[in-house]
Order: sequence, then structure tokens, then C-alpha cells
Amino acid sequence: MGKVTGFLEIDRQVGKYQPASDRIRHFREFTIPMSDQEVEKQAARCMDCGIPFCHGPTGCPVHNQIPDWNDLVFNNKWEEAIRNLHSTNNFPEFTGRVCPAPCEEACTLNLEDAPVAIKTVEQAIADKAYEMGYIVPQPATTKTNKSVAVIGSGPAGMAAAQQLARAGHDVTVYERETKPGGLLRYGIPDFKMEKNFIDRRVEQMKGEGVTFQCGVNVGVDLKVEDLLAKYDAVLYCGGSETPRNAGIPGVDLHGVHDAMPYLVQQNRRVGRENIDSVGWPSAPILAGGKHVVVVGGGDTASDCVGTAFRQGAVKVSQLDIRPMPPEKEDKLAVWPYWATKMRTSSSQAEGANREFQVATLEFVGEDGVLTGVKCCQVDERRKPIAGTEFIIKADLAFIAIGFQGPFMGGVIADLGDRLTLNTDRRGSTNVVADDKDYKTSVDKFWTAGDVRRGQSLVVWAIREGRQAARAIDEALMGATTLPR
Ligand SMILES: Cc1cc2nc3c(=O)[nH]c(=O)nc-3n(C[C@H](O)[C@H](O)[C@H](O)COP(=O)(O)OP(=O)(O)OC[C@H]3O[C@@H](n4cnc5c(N)ncnc54)[C@H](O)[C@@H]3O)c2cc1C
Ligand code: SF4
Repeated sequence: MGKVTGFLEIDRQVGKYQPASDRIRHFREFTIPMSDQEVEKQAARCMDCGIPFCHGPTGCPVHNQIPDWNDLVFNNKWEEAIRNLHSTNNFPEFTGRVCPAPCEEACTLNLEDAPVAIKTVEQAIADKAYEMGYIVPQPATTKTNKSVAVIGSGPAGMAAAQQLARAGHDVTVYERETKPGGLLRYGIPDFKMEKNFIDRRVEQMKGEGVTFQCGVNVGVDLKVEDLLAKYDAVLYCGGSETPRNAGIPGVDLHGVHDAMPYLVQQNRRVGRENIDSVGWPSAPILAGGKHVVVVGGGDTASDCVGTAFRQGAVKVSQLDIRPMPPEKEDKLAVWPYWATKMRTSSSQAEGANREFQVATLEFVGEDGVLTGVKCCQVDERRKPIAGTEFIIKADLAFIAIGFQGPFMGGVIADLGDRLTLNTDRRGSTNVVADDKDYKTSVDKFWTAGDVRRGQSLVVWAIREGRQAARAIDEALMGATTLPR
């Protein structure tokens, strides 16, 4: 374990942020990295619990061996630490930045509100490994003469492609957008994760023999049937991209947008890409000098808030239909599970006006242009309370209330009735496959990530990509050494 008395002597610390007034002037990451010595001290707090709740099943979806690498970092063995971390997670620099860290929620020291700074240590291990040159291509020593096509290059597709290439298969990733990365590149803003981290992994994967074919919309530019004929296996990791329909009157007013076109545009701007790309609106959506209202309470809504502040919005309000959560959870009732409690994202902390238990009734405007958002208070059952209506001034409004499934064009339309879909308890339409063999109703066709489980998290996408790669390897070779 780290230091036997570490948790008694050392206070929890995580990387500090640049002040909000500074960080909203740019789109770069703003966490000030901790020194190696500070990270080693944080790792020393780990108690190497008999049952490490951080590690799973309520903690880490990829089952990172957290106590082991905490110990390695404490003992200054950074190279061994990255080797251990890579054995369960292909991209710890992604999760170290954007994961909500259910591991910290499940950590035994969270019973005292001071969990081990697991996410900070994870990010530090990955960043240090790059700095020291430990992360290099690991091409397979033996080739299998089998070939796999992966559709979609989000974290699920990338993790699967890397695992399959390392198992000796010839892997080609087909991606509709101009560059690989999925929502990591075009959804999540640079201030949460800069995109050079994706580029470095893509280079590593190319060094391992993975081919990336970007700008190919499978099902439209290329028939799925052609892929099935050409490859021994096809893995569909297309994500869950269709925005949920809010059904709010006034959505046609100029100034009302779904969240994704806005975030994609800004990510393209920062990445010096043309914003006028296929499938996305070409007119610039910019919040500078505007009153902005964001409808929704999740990650996507929060990313709209942070982006609007960086573009120079005058005021940003965020509307959440859920009641304001308690400041502190009833620890003994919920630990080690994810707790509902008041959380403030770094974007919200930049000055968002947050309204809880509020329903959006209508977008109102003049001459076809948005001027305000009509709202009302709701009761615990989300029913409007009569007489509580009010209007928030708005020049720009974003709808960020989640996703209802994959694009139904492309792959799904192309396969038609052959591909079985279902609707989950959140009302999302997903491609049917279980989480053991990831096999769909179509022969030679597997699926993983958000397209299978519904909109989720990067860490779950990595897990599904890894597990689907194992299932495919086993199906092609009769046995596999890839981990689940
Ligand atoms: C705005 C936003 C913020 C988020 N923030 C976080 C966060 O902070 N932390 C976190 O853990 N999770 C976050 N998430 C969720 C997370 O990004 C997703 O769960 C994750 O990216 C899913 O990975 P995936 O590989 O399944 O799909 P995606 O990342 O969606 O990738 C799917 C890829 O498939 C491609 N594709 C689709 N159809 C085709 C086709 N027919 N042909 C070729 N290519 C195709 C798409 O272009 C895309 O590149 C966020 C999501 C959003 C929308
Ligand atoms: S639960 Fe916390 S203290 Fe226990 S092993 Fe995991 S990180 Fe260490």
C-alpha cells in the first residue's frame, strides 16, 4: 500500500483551476498540474483496502487496479504505474480529464468526504508517461490474417481498434467526420480536454497498424454490405447522436438551437477546421454580447454554459427541471454508489445563473427572432404550478436534454429490418446486443458504446470497446487472450 499512515497525515488535494476571470478568456485546459511530489503524496493516502470499492463494481467501469498504481506512484515507479494502468484502460489521459470519477465516490475515504484523488493520480500517470516517452506503438508480433472494420472513432471504436490490432488483426476505422475522436473531439470542449491527446493516440495506433479512413459515412458513402463482404468482422461504434425532442413550442425561432451543432462548431473553430461541414449548420452560432439560456442539467448543458462564457455572453442561465439536490448526501444510505448531491461544474462556477425545478414552456420571440424563454416552477412530480410563469430574456437558447439514440439514417437505414433495435427505460433507441458477446442480429456485425447502451460516459465506451474486441477476437480465432 501507499504510506501506512498516509490517510491520517496528508490532506486530500487536487489540481487547482485558473481563476474563472482568466480561464474564460481562452479555450485551453485550465487545471494547474501538481508536481510529481504532490501527486506521490496524494497516492500515499490510499489504504489498499481489503475490498477496494474504488476498483468495482460500483467504482471503476474498466476496473482500473487503483490501489496497485497508487502504491507504484508513491514508490516513484511511474513506468510500472502506466503499464498497470494501460492493462485496464487504453486511454487514461482521456478519463483522467473527463471522467466524473465514480471511483472517488466509491472510495472508502469518501465516507469521510476526503476520497483519494484517484482521477488526479490517473491523469498524472498518463501525462508523465508521455513526457518520459513511455507511450510508444506496441504492434502485434504475430499477424492473424483476419481483418476487422470499425465504424466510428469515438472512445469505443478507438479502444476496440487498438485491442484488435494488438491481437494481430488488420483493422480499418471508418469515420464520418474529418478527424477521429467522436464526441471526445467534437462534443467535449477543449477547455475540458485538448485534442492533441486524441492526435497522439491516433499516431500510436497508426504505428500499431490501424488505418483511419475519415470522411466516410458508412451506409451512405459506403454500403454496410460491402464492409461485411470485405472484412471478417464489422464493429459498429456509431454513438448516440440524435437529440431528444423537447417538444417545446417556438423551437423554429431564430436563436434556438440544439446543443450539439453549437458545441461542434466551436470545437471545429478551435481545431482550425471548416465549420461548414456536411450535416451541421453552416451559419455561425455565437454567444458574444448575448443573453443565453441553456435548457437541461447534464454535461452537455454545462459545456454550452462554459462555451458561451468564453464567447463573451452577457448572462448565461441554465434551467433544470429537477429539484435542487441536497448539499450533502446521506452517506451511509448511498455509499459506495453514485450520490445525488449538489455538484457545480467548472463551467457553472464561471457565473451561471442556475434555476432548479423549472419547466421550459415556450420559446417566445418577435418577427421570428427569439427574445425570451417562458418558464414556470414545477412540483415534485414535474407538474407545472399555476401562477408561477416567468420569462427569462434570451437572444440565444440551447436545448441540451439528452439523446434518443443513433442517427437513424446511415448504418441503421442501410441494414433495415435485419438489425434489431429496442427502446430502453430512458426512451432511447439502441442497437440490440448483450454485454457478453456484443453480437447483433446481423451475421458478422458487432456493436459497442453509446449506440448499444445509450448515451453514457467515455469510461463506459472504453470498457465496451475493449470487451467487444475480446468477443470478436474469440469469434475469429476460437480463443482469445484479450482481457474483458
Ligand atoms: C457535449 C457532451 C459532453 C460530454 N461530456 C462527457 C464528460 O465530461 N465525461 C464523460 O465521461 N462523458 C461525456 N460525454 C459522453 C461521452 O462523450 C460519450 O458517452 C462517448 O463519447 C461515447 O463514445 P462512443 O465511442 O460510443 O460514441 P461517440 O463518441 O459518439 O463516437 C461515435 C463516432 O461514430 C461516428 N459515426 C457515426 N455513424 C457513422 C457512420 N455511419 N459512418 C462513419 N462514422 C460514423 C461519429 O461521427 C462519431 O465519431 C459527453 C457527451 C456530450 C455530447
Ligand atoms: S477505496 Fe480508496 S483507499 Fe481503498 S484502495 Fe481504493 S483508492 Fe485506496
